Amino acid sequence: METSRSPVFERTNRKRVFSGIQPTGKPHIGNYLGALRLWVGAQEVHDCSFAVVDLHALTVPGAVRPAELPVKVREAAAIVLAAGVDPSRATLFVQSEVPAHAELTWLLSCVTPVGWLERMTQYKTKAAVQERASAGLLAYPVLQAADILLYRTDLVPVGEDQKQHVELARDVAQRFNRLFGEAFVVPEPWIGSGTARIMGLDDPTAKMSKSVGETRPGHAIGLTDPPEVIRRAIQGAVTDSAPAVDVATAGAGVRNLLAIYAGVTGEATEAIAARFNGRRYGKLKVAVADAVIASLEPLQRRFRDLMADPGELDRVLAAGAERSRGVAAVTLQRASALIGLVRR
Ligand code: ATP
Ligand code: MG
Repeated sequence: METSRSPVFERTNRKRVFSGIQPTGKPHIGNYLGALRLWVGAQEVHDCSFAVVDLHALTVPGAVRPAELPVKVREAAAIVLAAGVDPSRATLFVQSEVPAHAELTWLLSCVTPVGWLERMTQYKTKAAVQERASAGLLAYPVLQAADILLYRTDLVPVGEDQKQHVELARDVAQRFNRLFGEAFVVPEPWIGSGTARIMGLDDPTAKMSKSVGETRPGHAIGLTDPPEVIRRAIQGAVTDSAPAVDVATAGAGVRNLLAIYAGVTGEATEAIAARFNGRRYGKLKVAVADAVIASLEPLQRRFRDLMADPGELDRVLAAGAERSRGVAAVTLQRASALIGLVRR
């Protein structure tokens, strides 16, 4: 797959980059096009840390069963590596193996107004489909702020849906710094262009999501799905009522297929528009499925190899956690001292 180029790559100064993925289900093409490929590009230039954020996966009780969580953590880590993150250039670790994440979350929770959290779109969306949302779901963005701030992060490469959370992390950092002194670097979101919000194939009004994909076949294109499953999902994608593609007036479903095609082929939007305008949806879907399947083939091969050697995967994660504990401890110590938790 093409590595996305962004103006950030033109800068010569090295930045600190942090981002995470939840082990909540099968990673999908939205995770790849919105986040993972930015991570792969970032490691060429910047000082990067990436985490499988397992504590975040606990915020929806029942979403991941305890016995499944370790499997999903390994799978998420293997996907990150299979996508091209190189542990000799970037640090990859599991969030719960660095206790400072949970500890800093408490300090930050005590300076975060509840109203800020209640305004978060993801909280409202996820809470709406549950009988009783957990306090953890409300506090999710505070944990995310801790993840980011511990590594003195400048840039957070994420999909569009996480922009609001990164902005909250900025607000929390600034509030803490103002109240207690300069503990944190104020981070900026890094959102790619074109594919920062891939929509669900079965419902192009909502973003493609791992947890939704667990219960709705045909919602997502799983990065590890076999070719026939990918083909079936794309064939079933919602399009418009008109008989053929009209790029100028295309609805969300058709625009989504065109964005996925552009994302996996790296072709220019104008060339794609010229090729598919006036073509029937069936032809567009075959072309998108062919392009997605071909582009995922090397990733899927690497994923299978990585999963065949869990010992090696665990060694990579253990080394990443060790390194991260050292960096995180310094930030936590500084914040703790500023807030008065250290006896002099
Ligand atoms: P869940 O449904 O459990 O929240 P998710 O699909 O949203 O899962 P996350 O682990 O929450 O995945 O997010 C990992 C990264 O992928 C984040 O940077 C997020 O912004 C990005 N991302 C998630 N969904 C999409 C999407 N549909 N399009 C583009 N980027 C996405
Ligand atoms: Mg999510």
